Amino acid sequence: MIVGVHPLAGFDKVLHYRVPEGMCAEVGVGSLVRVPIVNMLKLGIVGEIGAPQDFPIDRLKLLAQVVYPFPALPPDLLGLARWMARYYACGLECIIETMIPAAVRRGAGLKQEKLLAIAQKLSVEELAVLATRAPQQGKLYRFLEQQFRPTAKSLVLDRLGLTGAVVNALVKRGVVREETRRIERIAYADDHAEGELVAALPHRLNEEQQTVVTALTASVAAGKFEVSLLHGITGSGKTEVYLRTIDETLKAGGGVVMLVPEVALTPQTVARLRSRLEAIAQGQRCVVWHSHLSEGERLDGWLALATGEARVVVGARSAIFAPVKNLKLIVVDEEHEPAYKQDETPRYHGRDVAVMRGKLSGAVCLLGSATPSLESFTNVESGKYKLLQLTQRVDARQLPFIDVVDMRIEAMKQRTLPVLSGKLVRAMQDRLERREQTILFINRRGYSSSMLCTKCGHAEGCNHCSITMTYHRADEQLRCHLCGDARAAPARCPQCGAPDIRWRGLGTQRVEETVRRMVPRARIERMDTDTMSKKNRFREVLAAFRAGKIDVLVGTQMIGKGLDFPNVTLVGLIDADISMHVPDFRANERTFQLLVQVAGRAGRGDRAGEVMVQTFTPQAEAIQFSRHADFAGFAAAELKIRREFRYPPYRHLIHHLFRGPNPEKLQFFAEQWAKLVEKTLGDQVELRGPSASPIEKIKDEYRWQLWYFTHAVTKVVPQLMRLRAEFAWPDDLTQVLDVDPVNLS
Ligand code: ADP
Ligand code: ZN
Repeated sequence: MIVGVHPLAGFDKVLHYRVPEGMCAEVGVGSLVRVPIVNMLKLGIVGEIGAPQDFPIDRLKLLAQVVYPFPALPPDLLGLARWMARYYACGLECIIETMIPAAVRRGAGLKQEKLLAIAQKLSVEELAVLATRAPQQGKLYRFLEQQFRPTAKSLVLDRLGLTGAVVNALVKRGVVREETRRIERIAYADDHAEGELVAALPHRLNEEQQTVVTALTASVAAGKFEVSLLHGITGSGKTEVYLRTIDETLKAGGGVVMLVPEVALTPQTVARLRSRLEAIAQGQRCVVWHSHLSEGERLDGWLALATGEARVVVGARSAIFAPVKNLKLIVVDEEHEPAYKQDETPRYHGRDVAVMRGKLSGAVCLLGSATPSLESFTNVESGKYKLLQLTQRVDARQLPFIDVVDMRIEAMKQRTLPVLSGKLVRAMQDRLERREQTILFINRRGYSSSMLCTKCGHAEGCNHCSITMTYHRADEQLRCHLCGDARAAPARCPQCGAPDIRWRGLGTQRVEETVRRMVPRARIERMDTDTMSKKNRFREVLAAFRAGKIDVLVGTQMIGKGLDFPNVTLVGLIDADISMHVPDFRANERTFQLLVQVAGRAGRGDRAGEVMVQTFTPQAEAIQFSRHADFAGFAAAELKIRREFRYPPYRHLIHHLFRGPNPEKLQFFAEQWAKLVEKTLGDQVELRGPSASPIEKIKDEYRWQLWYFTHAVTKVVPQLMRLRAEFAWPDDLTQVLDVDPVNLS
């Protein structure tokens, strides 16, 4: 038997090996193996079985070891890796490394402990003989004889002060046997004790939910690849639909992956999902998968899935690579979330990879959102995806109406740039009297986004990046949100010395301060990455808010995700313009999503909610359509624009970034390269650029960029890769290809 192996050794090639007779039964496609390379043993994945053509087989080296008795990359994942390498312009090895936990890549065996037990009972006489000839062996035997069950070897040796040699001697005689047992480690084990497992019981489905679940169950039973987009308004009970469908899938013997955006994986949601899923899986484990797991925890979950011990995993983006067996259902919650895109190599999109894995595994994909991405929505229009809908909130309440506050009028009234409108302040005071709660969103941390001198017009920028510094009042610092550089905030303009400094653009700190001034009796907490750096702070604040010890919570979007507070009856979005006026063709889409999702946080209990959105551009379409959560209206208007400019989803977009210390050199090489691409691939891609990036400099590195628009990513990307490998790049130029980028700045 000959196998082709992808060694994890940093050179992205297939090497062939002969498999020793005795190992043939254990080796298959996807096996993790050790192979000799030069004079070392390296780990690798078996990619194919069979010999290369006209190669002298007797010259092949022998495969050294099979690490696990099961494939580390089952065929669907191996196929997925190959597709990703082609699609995301990335080496296969790099993808394989992303798919397999670090501990596995380092060749960690099954985490085991050795147990000792008596294999053959000795008679009293035999034991007496043993005890005189080999007192230590006798001692060990006597000890084991008193144990009821196999006992950990390390513990026994430690207790008796013996060495392994004593054990070996007894094993050789056939008197004692060694067993191995896998050690389990459970993520979030302590969260079960939290007493927060509120949703542990299933709800009775309403009619709409039942219709959707029935349709999905039928799809899963059909056992074919299919994608359904579940468009359910906020509070329509999508989670319950996911859980029921998962339930049916597990009952039918299938495996399940459920993806949730990382930020939504708070211990609280994890504990809740997990207890429900474990109840569903009838005592089987539900594996949890996210970036904060320790290596051991990750390995443990991975092994449980790979061996078939567990059949369901819930996790962030990378859980899509979990080696779930017999995969029949993939759920992607909040499928529109940009967080599903990984912003380092391999730059994959969790949702898109989920769909491809579904295709390769023959599984049903369920993409859910209150504000579907336009990519998924056009796939419904073209008939690729099925559409399922939940149009009612479970509590039969109306969606809260969004009150758009025109800040231009407010600015005239207050004769200054206002932070809070009079209307919002009155509404907050009102809530305070009624002992109800308020959440204020502002999507920027810090105090203000820039420091402007009204005398000379100077705005203080970062020395290393081409953006303005953000003012943090708490410690009187100017900080760069790109590179983290900080310095004391000046009292006078560093340029002209005038004391006429103004702070432009709002941040969380300034909103917090203004609320303290305008609604002095309110108990206020701020929640952003500045205040939440301490580990348990996030949970503490949320617990205090839930317990009614906080009246007003001010924060960035991080407090908006998947939280459900019945006593919140007022939600304010302080500055809707932040997300709208950025150089990104998805700015409208993001704003619409933000508004609808934010509004969904209000009035989840039995009281009606009110939502106020402050903006200087109240007429904007993204804002107007969001007032009634009119997704269809928004999609139609926005897609019209996208079609006109042939932007995604009508074509794919590939971003090519060039970085380096010398901007002229960047420009020169980017232009040469663009000419070559134009000449070679001009019929398949449309080029835009090269041009300086919107942020020209980050951390002292200059940035140039080039855009490719294309219909055929998997055709264009491999050609770009080939061209790029042949092009003579200078040493100090770094480049990044990003296919389907979600962050354009
Ligand atoms: P969505 O994700 O669609 O915004 P959720 O799944 O968070 O909505 O559901 C909102 C709330 O309604 C949750 O507290 C959930 O437990 C509850 N819920 C879901 N389905 C039902 C139902 N059929 N009857 C009563 N309550 C339900
Ligand atoms: Zn900087």
